[in-house]
Amino acid sequence: MNVAILGSTGSIGTQALDVARRHPDKLRIIALAAHSSSEALVQQAHEFQVKRLVLGDREQRDNVALAQLPQDVRVDFGLEAIEELCQIEGVDMVLNALSGAVGLRASYRTLTSGKKLALANKESLVVGGDLLMPLVCKDSLLPVDSEHSAIFQCLLGEDDKTVSRLWLTASGGPFRGRTREQLASVTREQTLAHPTWKMGPKITVDSATLMNKGLEVIEAFHLFGLDYDHISVVVHPQSCIHSMVEYCDGSVKAHLGVTDMRIPIQLAFSYPQRWQAPVEPLDFTQLGALSFEPADEKTFGALALAKEAGRQGGTMPAVLNAANEVAVQSFLNETCGFLDIERIVEQVMLRHDVQSVCSLEQLEQVDGWARTTAEDFLRAL
Ligand code: NDP
Ligand code: MG
Repeated sequence: MNVAILGSTGSIGTQALDVARRHPDKLRIIALAAHSSSEALVQQAHEFQVKRLVLGDREQRDNVALAQLPQDVRVDFGLEAIEELCQIEGVDMVLNALSGAVGLRASYRTLTSGKKLALANKESLVVGGDLLMPLVCKDSLLPVDSEHSAIFQCLLGEDDKTVSRLWLTASGGPFRGRTREQLASVTREQTLAHPTWKMGPKITVDSATLMNKGLEVIEAFHLFGLDYDHISVVVHPQSCIHSMVEYCDGSVKAHLGVTDMRIPIQLAFSYPQRWQAPVEPLDFTQLGALSFEPADEKTFGALALAKEAGRQGGTMPAVLNAANEVAVQSFLNETCGFLDIERIVEQVMLRHDVQSVCSLEQLEQVDGWARTTAEDFLRAL
């Protein structure tokens, strides 16, 4: 299978390349895209003999690293070039591992071009699920997010009408059990030390605020078609159960495995087959206790805000997401506090009148408005 990897230099992208390294007989990487990590992209192109590259950042045009590429390698720049990569002839599947709403157009273009989409970029669905889901036909969208890959697998062979609830598991993040008073003073460094998953900076902050779980609830709503009353979150600190599906007869199917994103990434590539695991399987004799507790939405307000945005629907999740992206970046730049993230998201949401989603241009316009409004609030802090 010929694959294009968008966001190849990030956490998911590099793990996807490791899967490709282990299965050279099954996967051929034919296109790669990143934002500004020119040196890493060039190194990946050498290793995997890739002839089509894109850097989203046009400033990279003169980067000396690019001069080392063989003559027959084509490098393009800008977001439009990333969209073009999604539809080039010969690509069978696009792994969208970009970070943020910037990934929406790539997801859209992949599906309209009739290619398969392995989707890590959850923001695509949060923002544009109303536009993307009507484009999905049987198995053309394979979820990479571990919870959604787990649910996808629990649903195999079942009748959708018999599903009564989806249970999304959450690790609880590095600040599980803290009070709001304690959260007010947590630092960037403490936030980036996630207990179970090693991920890019944006999703790591989202995991600490529980916004990530909120985005995942919206993602599950679009992917699996259950309403918000039937999608629940449970904190499970060991992250051993990746999610669960409850059926009308009281049976619950759970997906378990080690916490290694290469497993769901690989399944998106291999489905409907399964390939050799990249890691040792779980040893249940060594596992010890698994525990569960409700999510504390009073302390971690971002989860409640995301559910509210999902329930309101239309353009509200796009507003939530854009405000969150701006606030998280500000927190990473150490120009706002941890609790300011949810405050800003809430304030921006309050100022938005929901519209039903009709086009990518509309969503981008709403996204732009939410970013500017969030920046205004940040300046006023
Ligand atoms: P990273 O920040 O590690 O990587 C992001 C990648 O996208 C990098 O290759 C980056 O390039 C590229 N990129 C970002 N912005 C642009 C842009 N404007 N144009 C072109 N390329 C861009 O993120 P993660 O890998 O952690 O996450 C990727 C997605 O997967 C997110 O949506 C996240 O929510 C989701 N996800 C991640 C999980 C994980 O374990 N990491 C788990 C589940 C979901 P550059 O290096 O040049 O900046
Ligand atoms: Mg996840």
